[in-house]
Parts: sequence; C-alpha cells; structure tokens
Amino acid sequence: MTDKKAPQSLLGMMPGEVEALIKEMGEPGFRAKQVVEWTFVRRVADIEAMTNLPKALRERLKERLVTRSMSIATVSGSADTTRKFLLKLNDGRYVETVLIPANPALYGGKSDRRTLCVSSQVGCAYDCKFCASGLAGFTRNLTAGEIVEQIVQVEAHTGERVDNLVFMGMGEPLANFSNLVKAIEILNAEWGIGIGARHMTVSTSGLAPQIQKLADFPLQIRLAISLHGASDPVRNEIMPVNRKYPLAELFEALEAWNAKRKQFLTFEFILIEDVNDSLDQARMLAKRARSVNAKVNLIPYNTVDGLPWKRPSEQRQDAFLEVLTSAGVTATLRREKGHDIAAACGQLRLKQETSEGIIESPIPEKRITIGGGN
Ligand code: SAH
Repeated sequence: MTDKKAPQSLLGMMPGEVEALIKEMGEPGFRAKQVVEWTFVRRVADIEAMTNLPKALRERLKERLVTRSMSIATVSGSADTTRKFLLKLNDGRYVETVLIPANPALYGGKSDRRTLCVSSQVGCAYDCKFCASGLAGFTRNLTAGEIVEQIVQVEAHTGERVDNLVFMGMGEPLANFSNLVKAIEILNAEWGIGIGARHMTVSTSGLAPQIQKLADFPLQIRLAISLHGASDPVRNEIMPVNRKYPLAELFEALEAWNAKRKQFLTFEFILIEDVNDSLDQARMLAKRARSVNAKVNLIPYNTVDGLPWKRPSEQRQDAFLEVLTSAGVTATLRREKGHDIAAACGQLRLKQETSEGIIESPIPEKRITIGGGN
C-alpha cells in the first residue's frame, strides 16, 4: 500500500476549485478554464487528451486529478425499454443507474425525454422493508464527482443527451446532502452538464430537517416524497425512517418547502397488497396530498425476490385511484412494468464482486424473518 491519495475527480470540482489547484501548482489561472472545458464540454476520458496544455503540466495534473473514476461493468435491457448500467467505482464497489427512454405512451404522446435515474449512495441505511436497494445495508456516500459521472458515462455510451434526472436510484440523496447539492450545481451549470433545474427531481424517504435545508437551495429543482403510507402506523411498519420523522414532522417540513418554492410536490405511493392499499389509506392520502398541494404517483409494487410483498389486483388499484381523483387530487397510476421511473429505480440492488464475477447481494435473514437473525 502507498499513502498516495486517490486522485480527485474533475467532474466533481467547481471551476474555482480547479483554479485554486492550478495556481497552487504555480501555473497561470487561464489553464483552469481550459481544464474545465476539456472536462465538461469535450468530455475527454483522460487528461492526456487535453492537448492545448503543455505535456509537463498534463503529467503533473495526472498525479492529482482524473476525468473518469468509474467504468461500465454491464449494461442490461434494451434501447426501447429501460437500460440498467452497472458501474464499477474505483474502490471496487458498484452502483446502478437506469436510463428510461422517451416513451410517448407514458406522456400522452408529447414527450421525447430521456430520463436517467441516478444513485446517490452505495447501498442505503434506511431499511425500507419493501425495497431491494437497502438489502445489504449501507456502504458509503458517493462523491459529487461520482454522482455527475453517472450522467457522463451514460451519455458517452449512448451518444445521446439525458434530458431529465431523477435522484431515485440507490441510496437516500438527502443523507448525502453536501455532495448532492454540489453535484446538482455542476449538473445544472452552463459550464458543466447544463441540465435545467426543473428537470431534476430529488426523491427522499422523508428526512424532515434536510427537506427544510434543501428548501433554501437556490436552484428550482423538484422534490418527490416516497410516502407509501398515509398514517403513522402504516408508515412505521414499512419505513423505519418514520419513527424518527413521523408524518407530523414531515408535513411541517413540506409546508416550509411550499412556502419557499414554486414547484409542485410529488408523493410516490407504492401500492402493496394488504399493507397500504385500503380505501381508508386512500382517503387519508387524499387529505394529506391536498394539505400540501401534492400530485400523487401511484406505483403498483414490483415484487422483489426474497421479499413477501405483492401488488394488489388491478381492480383494487383502480378503486384506490378513484378515491384520490374524486377528492380532486391530481394522481396517476402507471402499470407498464419496468417503465415507471420509481418502479424501475426501486429495483436497484447492491451488487458485489466475488471470484466468480458479479453477483447480487444475498438477502440477509433478518429481512424476511422479522425479529430473527442477529
Ligand atoms: N431513498 C430515496 C431515493 C430512492 S427512490 C427515496 O426513498 O425516495 C426509489 C423509489 O422506488 C422510491 O420511491 C422507493 O420507495 C421505490 N421503490 C422501492 N422498491 C420498490 C419496488 N419494489 N417497487 C416499486 N417501487 C419501489
């Protein structure tokens, strides 16, 4: 082992930081502008390719900086449905990112948007009982550079720009707050990736204090709440985060959000048979959605191997939706398997490497035998 620090990713650096580093190296400031342009406009995969920099400077930069810190391990799915990219990070960990192509059927024939669902952490600490992503627990936060690079990797692979970003991949974005907001600034910046703030949605399991903090973030990004339960007993059962931030506290944060923001809130609500799909839940959800003027996105649960949950019958899904719409709530119900953004993203599972290659993490015993395990 050497004590050399891992090189920093240029994709996670603000121009001011690049400039400070260049000056610290005794080089003129204008070099920073060139480096930033090679990184974000020309998207070079290697500092070596920054050909208007002196060779000696490139060599010195290469000791401290990189333009890529991950590689595509596998791509699954097809170009006309969803494509899942398994990305290998420089410490050997993996994250997934999902590209959901333009699907006119989903957007009333109008949209040609390509949406990328990005991860914010390796694993997740929040332990939602229905979710595949947290099954093997939490490993680490992604850096701002690793968040930004997911877009760069996918755009390089497909040769097409991503129009829309949702932070609905693996991890809890608001638990990685400073890297998340830095990544969003870089993704939004003209000199950076150039995606409009209104085309970025942060999804959270309901970290109330961080929602309050994000309300002061100047960019007009959208916020989605993974609600999944309209009362504390139901939400407590499936989302342990609710014990820390119960609905009253969450809704206080949402009111604070609304007081400062113009964009509508979205509630994600997965319908799980006999867990949260009663008409009583629908009525409570309608009331809650109206109280903070939120749209509701109903998602029939996608079954996860090893977990006991099921999706309700279509009849039951329709009845649930009907309660919402007749209460005047804007709500959608999307059944296309694998197409719905949250559903496709909710399937991300931590992968790990073994001598035989990449395998899906084993499901810990405690997840299926409540109270069992250690
Ligand atoms: N931690 C954040 C970001 C993850 S978003 C959050 O909770 O919002 C991933 C979305 O997919 C969430 O709305 C999550 O609740 C949902 N999801 C997880 N497992 C799912 C499944 N099996 N079927 C459908 N949606 C699922």
